Amino acid sequence: MPVRELAQLTWQEVGATDRERAAAILPIGALEAHGPHLPLATDVLIAEAMARAGAEKLSTRGMDALLLPTLAYAPAPFAADFPGTLSLEAAALTTQLVSIADSLARHDFDLLAIANAHLDPAHLAAIQAAVTEIRQAGRVRVAYPDVTQRPWAPRLTAEFRSGACHAGRYETSIIMALRPEWVHETLRVTLPPNARSLSAAIAAGQKSFVEAGGPRAYFGSPGEATTDEGRSTIALLGTILEEAVMLELARSVG
Ligand SMILES: [Zn+2]
Repeated sequence: MPVRELAQLTWQEVGATDRERAAAILPIGALEAHGPHLPLATDVLIAEAMARAGAEKLSTRGMDALLLPTLAYAPAPFAADFPGTLSLEAAALTTQLVSIADSLARHDFDLLAIANAHLDPAHLAAIQAAVTEIRQAGRVRVAYPDVTQRPWAPRLTAEFRSGACHAGRYETSIIMALRPEWVHETLRVTLPPNARSLSAAIAAGQKSFVEAGGPRAYFGSPGEATTDEGRSTIALLGTILEEAVMLELARSVG
């Protein structure tokens, strides 16, 4: 079964789908400042690439992988002061996710898989709150690999694990692989590395990229990004999503 996009189908086509063998895959990104060299939609592009890579792997396992339209608005308080960042209230995201899961359950879908690429702590907390609520309701399974946590984080690149993981080598490599024409290449190669760790800043109670030592909204080393690293990270993110789905399907639900 090839990967399909839910938005492209008719209601009758969805009605004829074996929804108990389907995975509804929801990419979640943000419109958020990503350095002077990457587009605001960086996390949207990464989430969509993760969702598609995971969908293709699930499809080869015989599942019916259905891509949902991306959620492109998200809580982004760390970047909220940078022009173009459009930050949502955390509760608004949680409500949307729970409602989407409710609708999927109503139409007999068995599984929602979340491919998230935006890492602001308020955003991660809003997703986790929704996942907890969806699991408590018990009407649809939800697979959600939080890539900032074990067991997933240790498999990602050294820069990502250092916490300097915003618009640096990690994310820039992915956008170079996906949409090179959206990267400001002549500027990228001149950007000095910024080794400040966002995870350390968050632990220290800092609340914005500027406070965390990122006055231009990037951390890490954009100048070291490569298309090859971007391609391999996308494949790995797809594997992570696939594994999270298989773990969820293996989990017995009460
Ligand atoms: Zn990002």
